[in-house]
Amino acid sequence: MKVTLAKYGGFCIGVKRALNIVESAPNPCILGYLVNNDRVMERLKSKGVNIVSSVGEAGEKPIVISASSTLKSNYEALASKPYYDATCRVVFRCVEIAKRSQIEGKTLVIIGEKDHLEVKNVASFADKVEYILTEKEAEEFTFSKSKGYIVITQTTFPKARAEYIYSLLKTKANENVEFVFTLCDSVRKRVEEAVENAKTHEKVLVVGDSKSANCRFLYNAALEVNPQTYFIESADFISEGFTAESVFVTGGASVDPEDIKEVVRKLVTRE
Ligand code: SF4
Repeated sequence: MKVTLAKYGGFCIGVKRALNIVESAPNPCILGYLVNNDRVMERLKSKGVNIVSSVGEAGEKPIVISASSTLKSNYEALASKPYYDATCRVVFRCVEIAKRSQIEGKTLVIIGEKDHLEVKNVASFADKVEYILTEKEAEEFTFSKSKGYIVITQTTFPKARAEYIYSLLKTKANENVEFVFTLCDSVRKRVEEAVENAKTHEKVLVVGDSKSANCRFLYNAALEVNPQTYFIESADFISEGFTAESVFVTGGASVDPEDIKEVVRKLVTRE
């Protein structure tokens, strides 16, 4: 079996930075999910890192804000408390745009999943928000001539779909509509790599947590070109009968690279 390990699989730069912040902070409390991956969160807990669901729960311990940022109301509650902000620079840019939409009295249009953690956090900084998830919703969307808009994307949204939706919206936009492409380059690179390798390998294994949007989008992108693409949480999920001439193994931005390498090790050693 030829097994190819993805060059771009595993923790992205934003998640690596967030984990470094947690490791260097004294007795930190993570506010909510640092990353959308239960295995990573469990490992942090086993190292004694506290996870809290509200600012008040942390007491005097310093809070670490996740790579996906947090709600505006949490920043307000943190005003007089110690905290470390691990918001990824790509998400931070979206937060800044959301704040600007409020200052300029414009509506923020987010192409993405309304219930996604990052989207909820970004939206909390804007006064007026509209969401577009599908091509159909983009077709039906109308810009009011008397209002201003700023259109952005969820950072992990599939590039081809985002570009298509942008092109649809641009046909109806006027000079009061500003478009800012806010996709994450780290996600784009791993999707492109997975799609290329899905064409040349018999099977693809995508390691990830099903709660993670970027893991699901990565899986769907590979699946579109190779029906023998499988989503697994870890090496434990490789079935006994799994076999192939060639396998490409990758993982989402919130996946520990060691978990991806473990999949490769298991495939290679049982040959
Ligand atoms: S996937 Fe991209 S946007 Fe999300 S944390 Fe990683 S680098 Fe930042």
